[in-house]
Amino acid sequence: MRVAVFSSKDYDRRFLSSVRTGDLELNFIEHRLTEQTAGLAQGHAAVCVFVEDEVSAGVLTRLAADGIRLVVLRSAGHDNVDLACARSLGIVVAHVPAYSPYAVAEHAVALILALNRHVCRAYNRVREYNFALTGLLGFDLHGRTVGVIGTGAIGTVFARIMTGFGCRVIAHDVRPNSECERLGVRYVELDQIFAESDIISLHCPLTPATHHLVDADALARMKRGVMLVNTSRGGLLNTAAVISALKNGLIGYLGIDVYEEENALFFEDRSERGAFDDDLFARLLTFPNVLVTGHQGFFTADALTRIGEVTIANLLGFERGDGPQFPVTTSD
Ligand code: NAD
Repeated sequence: MRVAVFSSKDYDRRFLSSVRTGDLELNFIEHRLTEQTAGLAQGHAAVCVFVEDEVSAGVLTRLAADGIRLVVLRSAGHDNVDLACARSLGIVVAHVPAYSPYAVAEHAVALILALNRHVCRAYNRVREYNFALTGLLGFDLHGRTVGVIGTGAIGTVFARIMTGFGCRVIAHDVRPNSECERLGVRYVELDQIFAESDIISLHCPLTPATHHLVDADALARMKRGVMLVNTSRGGLLNTAAVISALKNGLIGYLGIDVYEEENALFFEDRSERGAFDDDLFARLLTFPNVLVTGHQGFFTADALTRIGEVTIANLLGFERGDGPQFPVTTSD
């Protein structure tokens, strides 16, 4: 079976090629999948995509016309896929659930520690032989209240780490899980998360119900000086509202690994261009209490190994006629 692997980077080649692929022929394509590039999938039976690929109705219609019957995501999240359209066209969609909840949860913690103890500012100062501590004041995590929104695979690992710091962890999820409850996490309504949390970390998927979950109204209900962390999907935050809240001091710290308009920015070296077309992103970078990473939460050797293994297992299962190991259903 021939597979067109879109948005492929050197690490995708390395980790996919290290798995025994049977009869699969993987063709690595550097371009993102969009309506303009969908034609590159011609002659393949399946496409393999990542978070920045656009698997919209237009793209799926083109893929179906070219005989593609399977879309395999190298990610857990699948908000970039029009699932209803895929189903109507008879295209099966598969993903890699929970490849390493530790990778993303630990990255969220890295953002929290770096923001709180001003690690980036300290690093730069020391390199200039400036050892002054003014501006580096942090707070103890111990005893602080951490609000977790979404306690699936990643949110649960994150909650466990934060209880280890001695934090009081409260959570909100449409489906509470008993593992979190055993950790001592208390499930509460969103309002209580907003009102009581010193740190709020988002770990729910992007869906119509969670789009702009953090908007001006939600921000107004948060503790002044709150630390907000988003390693989930950019669309959970209304960026313009977040910028206003940073300007008036309502948000004390912002750590994000994802951004609403990240498809036009992330995963490429754009340093040559200097100025950005994206004014909101450029504004975010002007705040000293904002730390942005470019969607690297998943990026550990352990996670990529698992992504490679499950992606190949999904493809081989489909090729054998058993179906992919982890199909995405519209209820996921
Ligand atoms: P998961 O499916 O295990 O958990 C998601 C949880 O969110 C579930 O418990 C679900 O019930 C809950 N949820 C759904 N709708 C909700 C709502 N309206 N309010 C509150 N909770 C809600 O997923 P996961 O593996 O923990 O991943 C979570 C998200 O992390 C993914 O959807 C993806 O967007 C993101 N992610 C980011 C990276 C990265 O590199 N930054 C990597 C992997 C995943």
